[in-house]
Amino acid sequence: MKNKKNELTKNQKIVLDFIQKSNKPVKAYSILSNVSKKGLKAPPQVYRALEKLIEVGEVHKIESLNSFVACNSKCIEPNGTIFSICKSCDQTTEVSNADLAKFLSDFKDMNGTQFSGFNLELFGTCKSCKT
Ligand SMILES: [Zn+2]
Ligand SMILES: [Zn+2]
Repeated sequence: MKNKKNELTKNQKIVLDFIQKSNKPVKAYSILSNVSKKGLKAPPQVYRALEKLIEVGEVHKIESLNSFVACNSKCIEPNGTIFSICKSCDQTTEVSNADLAKFLSDFKDMNGTQFSGFNLELFGTCKSCKT
């Protein structure tokens, strides 16, 4: 399932490296301003790299934050992601819960639509914000 790192281009590696080093989801403009000193100066270069990284599963998009995170390598579903997001500090954790993933993959709505993918984002307050 996982793409081998050596199949990534130099630009994709630079973008991935930056996202992996961030401990919170990062927005595209923040990626752009941080990788520009490494030669990626044009926004389309960054967007293309992001697109590819998402496609190969190295990076996920957090829709509600319009931000990107590195995959924690525990994806259980090829077309499904589950994240828990702290409403106070934006700390985002990729949830690996096999039961939940299986439930969602088997889930049908009222019209009998069976789903082939999901992006689930759960909101709450993380441990350090609670105290
Ligand atoms: Zn993942
Ligand atoms: Zn928090």
